[in-house]
Amino acid sequence: MRARDYQRSRCYAAERKARELLGSKNRSFETVQDIQNELENFKSRKEFLEQFKDCQIRVKDGRGRRRPCCEIYSILSVMIPNFTLKFPKWSRNALTVMHELTHTQIAVDLPWHGATFCQKLLQLIELYMGKEARDVLQQCYDEYSVRYDTE
Ligand SMILES: [Zn+2]
Repeated sequence: MRARDYQRSRCYAAERKARELLGSKNRSFETVQDIQNELENFKSRKEFLEQFKDCQIRVKDGRGRRRPCCEIYSILSVMIPNFTLKFPKWSRNALTVMHELTHTQIAVDLPWHGATFCQKLLQLIELYMGKEARDVLQQCYDEYSVRYDTE
């Protein structure tokens, strides 16, 4: 069973602040297909070849949803995890896409937005958007008392 998601709202608040601070440095995507293509490229980078090797990710729009999400399906029936990421229009930006991508990397018994999640998101943000963007998010985590594992 998954552990209690003890810092979810603080995590969201910190990211909201980080999106404000990053402004146009937080790239936005027009369509879900753009996000799908970008994630395929990202997954095939050498740092991730091993990590994402057997991970199937489909991107869909977030019709009828307020928030983006990451759904895991057929996890019981197959060894290869399958994920569907859904993005309502407002959420089609680099930081939020990395947030949902991070969910594909979190073991099922860990809190959904816990310290491990936040650490992995910081790492992905640094790789995808650069050190400066990572520092912005980390400062926002600190400001909102969001815990993240240290490397
Ligand atoms: Zn999340």
